[in-house]
Amino acid sequence: MNARQIWQAALGELQVQMSRPNFETWLRQAAAVSIDDQRFVLRAHSTFAAEWIDRRLRPQIEQTLRRITGRPIALEVIVSHAPRAGGASTVETARAPKTRSSPNDQPAAIPEAAASPSPAPPPPLPTAPAPPPATGEWAPNPLYTFETFTVGKSNQTAHAAALSVANDPGRGYNPLFIYGGVGLGKTHLLHAIANVVMRKGLRTLYVSAEDFTNELVDAIREHRTDEFRQRYRTIEVLLVDDVQFIAGKEATQEEFFHTFNALHSVGHQIVLTSDRPPKAIANLAERLQSRFAWGIAVDIQLPDLETRRAILQAKAARQQVSVPDDVIELLATSIQSNIRELEGALNRVVAYSRLMNQPLTISLARAAIEDLVQSAQKRMLSPSDILDAVCRYYRVDPRAIRSKARDKEIVVPRQVAMYLMRQKTQASLVEIGRELGGRDHSTVLHGCERIQAEAQADIQLRRDLDAIEEILRQATMR
Ligand code: ADP
Ligand code: MG
Repeated sequence: MNARQIWQAALGELQVQMSRPNFETWLRQAAAVSIDDQRFVLRAHSTFAAEWIDRRLRPQIEQTLRRITGRPIALEVIVSHAPRAGGASTVETARAPKTRSSPNDQPAAIPEAAASPSPAPPPPLPTAPAPPPATGEWAPNPLYTFETFTVGKSNQTAHAAALSVANDPGRGYNPLFIYGGVGLGKTHLLHAIANVVMRKGLRTLYVSAEDFTNELVDAIREHRTDEFRQRYRTIEVLLVDDVQFIAGKEATQEEFFHTFNALHSVGHQIVLTSDRPPKAIANLAERLQSRFAWGIAVDIQLPDLETRRAILQAKAARQQVSVPDDVIELLATSIQSNIRELEGALNRVVAYSRLMNQPLTISLARAAIEDLVQSAQKRMLSPSDILDAVCRYYRVDPRAIRSKARDKEIVVPRQVAMYLMRQKTQASLVEIGRELGGRDHSTVLHGCERIQAEAQADIQLRRDLDAIEEILRQATMR
C-alpha cells in the first residue's frame, strides 16, 4: 500500500472513532505525503491544524496507522506553506492526478493550490479509481526554486550540479544522481530543475519511484503498458525521486532500465535522487547500478551550523517575519539533522507567537519547540542508554537489574528503568521486558504504572527521575 491508500484506510477508521465536527475540522483536509519504514508524513492545511493534529490526535492516528500497517509508525505533520501567495503546493501536488476522483473535478493543467487561494480545497476522499495521469499535468512546486535554496558547504556540489543540468539539460551530467538523508533538499532540487526547464518549454516529468512502480503495476493489470511507455519515453527531462524504492522490484527495474535507455540514447536528461549512493542500493540490478553511475553522483550532507542559520534567516525573511538572532540561534542549535524539521520549528515558533499574541522572544520559542526537541531526543535514546543512566545514578550493576533479585535496592531502579524506557524511547513493552532480563510485558506495565503513581506523592522519587533525565539530556547533547 502507498501512503495515500494507507491514509484512506486510516480516515475510514478515524471517522468512526471521532466526533464528526472534530473529524471534519482537523482531518478532512489533511493529505498523505509519504510513508517509509518508520514515518508517515501528513500534510495539514494550516499551521494551526498541524499543531492541533500533532498535539491532540497523534496517539490516535499513530495507533490506527500501526493497526493498518502492522508496524509502529511515527506521525509527522507538515504544512503547505504560504497559501497567500496563491501558489502553494507541496510535493504531492505531483500526485494530484491520482487523488482526484474524476478528471472533471478541476481543470487538469492547474495545480490544486494555484487554482484556489487559501484555504486549499479539501482533497476529495478518494473512492473512484484514479484516471491515468497524462503528460503535461504535472507542475512543480513554485516555492522550490534555486532562489529559495540556501547554499552551504553541505549541499554546494549538489546545487551546482543541479543548476548546470537545469541550464543545459541533456548535455552535461547525464544522469545526475543526487543522494543524501531525509529532509536535506533532494526533492527541492528536483523541483528547482523542473521550474527552470519547464519555463524553456521542455516536456518535463517528476515522479517518485513509488508512483512509477504503482503506475506500472496498474498499467500491466489494465493492459496499458504501451500507453505507459509512450508517456515516459517522450519526456525530455525525467526527474525520479527516491529511486531506492525500486530495489528488489524486478518488473519495475526492467521497465525503468528501458525507459532510461530510451531517454538517454537520444540525449534527454535524467535526474535521480536516493537516500544512498547507487552502489549502496541493495537488490538493484547490476546494469541499473552501472547506468546510474554513468553521469555524476553527488551527495548532500547534514548542514553545518552556519548553513542552518542561513536557512532560517532566509526563510524568516521570505515569510516577512522578524526573528531575533537568539531565537535563530536556539533553533539552529537544537535541530541539526533535518531541514524539514528546522523549517517546521521556525513555523511553529512564529505560529505560537501569533496565536498567543506575544512577541517572539527566546522564552516563547523555547516553550514552542520543547516537545519537538523532546521527540528528537526520544528518537535518539535507546533502552540501553536508559539502563546505563539508571544504573549510574543508583550505582547498581546492570546484571543485578536483569537478574531475578527482588530486594528493594534493585526493584526500584528496575521499575524506574521500565518507566523511563516507556517514556523516552519508542520501545514496546515486550522490547523493554527483553532489555531487562526477559520480563514479560505485564510486569513491565505494572512497573511503569507503579512509578508513575508513586512519583505523584514521593518527592525523593521525583528528584531521582529528574536527575536521571538530566543525565540523559547530557548524554544526548554530547
Ligand atoms: P528530501 O527530499 O531530501 O527529503 P526536501 O527536498 O523535501 O528533502 O526538503 C525538506 C524541506 O527542507 C523542504 O521544505 C525544502 O524546501 C527545505 N530545504 C531543504 N534544503 C534546503 C536549502 N538548502 N535551502 C532552503 N530550504 C531547504
Ligand atoms: Mg524527498
